Amino acid sequence: MQTIDHGSHGDIRDAVRGLCAEFPAEYHRKVDEERGYPERFVDALTKAGWMAALIPEEYGGSGLGLTEASVIMEEINRSGGNSGACHGQMYNMGTLIRHGSEEQKRKYLPRIAEGALRLQSMGVTEPTAGTDTTGIKTVAVRKGDRYLVNGQKVWISRVQHSDLMILLARTTPIDQVAKKSEGMSIFLVDLHEAKRKGMSVKPIVNMVNHETNELFFDDLEIPAENLIGEEGQGFKYILTGLNAERTLIAAECIGDGYWFIDKVTAYAKDRKVFGRPIGQNQGVQFPIAESFIEIEAANLMRYEACRLYDAHQPCGAQANMAKYLAAKASWEAANACIQFHGGFGFAAEFDVERKFRETRLYQVAPISTNLILSYVAEHILGLPKSY
Ligand SMILES: Cc1cc2nc3c(=O)[nH]c(=O)nc-3n(C[C@H](O)[C@H](O)[C@H](O)COP(=O)(O)OP(=O)(O)OC[C@H]3O[C@@H](n4cnc5c(N)ncnc54)[C@H](O)[C@@H]3O)c2cc1C
Repeated sequence: MQTIDHGSHGDIRDAVRGLCAEFPAEYHRKVDEERGYPERFVDALTKAGWMAALIPEEYGGSGLGLTEASVIMEEINRSGGNSGACHGQMYNMGTLIRHGSEEQKRKYLPRIAEGALRLQSMGVTEPTAGTDTTGIKTVAVRKGDRYLVNGQKVWISRVQHSDLMILLARTTPIDQVAKKSEGMSIFLVDLHEAKRKGMSVKPIVNMVNHETNELFFDDLEIPAENLIGEEGQGFKYILTGLNAERTLIAAECIGDGYWFIDKVTAYAKDRKVFGRPIGQNQGVQFPIAESFIEIEAANLMRYEACRLYDAHQPCGAQANMAKYLAAKASWEAANACIQFHGGFGFAAEFDVERKFRETRLYQVAPISTNLILSYVAEHILGLPKSY
């Protein structure tokens, strides 16, 4: 497949592709069938230093930017794997690096870089608030040198395969703040200690093989020194992570999109019905060509979002638009891929149905398509607020 060359990181691509080639489709299929966690794969990524890509060199990482991190995630998905098992560390990293204290960075980053700790979880979503994050009900109340946390989260991923989580909680009641986005704070939670001291975890079985959970906090104690940045400013800080997350997921969808296009193109050239390859029919060609065009266009927006993030410039609009375009394009490529595989699209051994389920998630999480449209309508185009 000939894609537009964005001058993009050939060395990183080759190295990640080489590592991914050691984990072929059979590996990911088996993990999916067993509803397991790709432990060996994540360990290999960690040992090769890819999970420490964003950690500055002075703390033991390779000091790369979001652009490079997005290339790593893209290549994992393009190889047939699923970055969902490990992308948390990438988007959480920006939050800790940009807003954490020097002491916190010295304490955690070198250990994350060497693979002794994983920072794979972010606890934002709640059952009652849903997408309306400022309506969260989880509260953290300071008592001397600790915070006591009470409340509930839902859909919190990788908690069982992580050591640390960034948690968003309200520290000032909503009726006592000037703006509802104020009065929330973020904390670095030691998950092993939390499980012993007031946090319970209930796994959610779901359509994708994605380890995600309900969390319940009953007087969970967090040392005050684990507060990240200033109390009350957490919403602003978590947006750093959310923008990185949207951009990385755009790159993952682009990786998925190319995987679907490769797969369906090869199949459509090979499969003969009515005495000719199915790919000779324009009814088959056009949906594939259309989704390819859309993936290439989404790719441009993804690099623009990365560029702005890495330059510490506002990137909310580009991160959201990249995620919107890429998730839509990968979903259309997935549809074409499953459709033109006919019955075989549904057979697990072709991997299409697995990737189809995986890429479908990104129409809803980490932010739904509707909410991106609403953001663009109201924040960029200045249309009246609907909520
Ligand atoms: C597999 C999985 C993993 C996840 N991992 C994490 C995680 O690690 N950490 C975390 O914090 N969260 C996580 N999430 C949560 C995810 O971010 C949310 O599911 C997502 O933001 C949507 O929120 P919701 O499910 O509460 O939907 P709701 O807010 O209830 O919205 C439901 C639907 O209603 C529509 N809608 C709602 N409001 C409006 C509106 N004003 N205008 C138009 N349409 C609207 C949208 O289409 C939306 O899809 C995960 C979710 C899944 C499924």
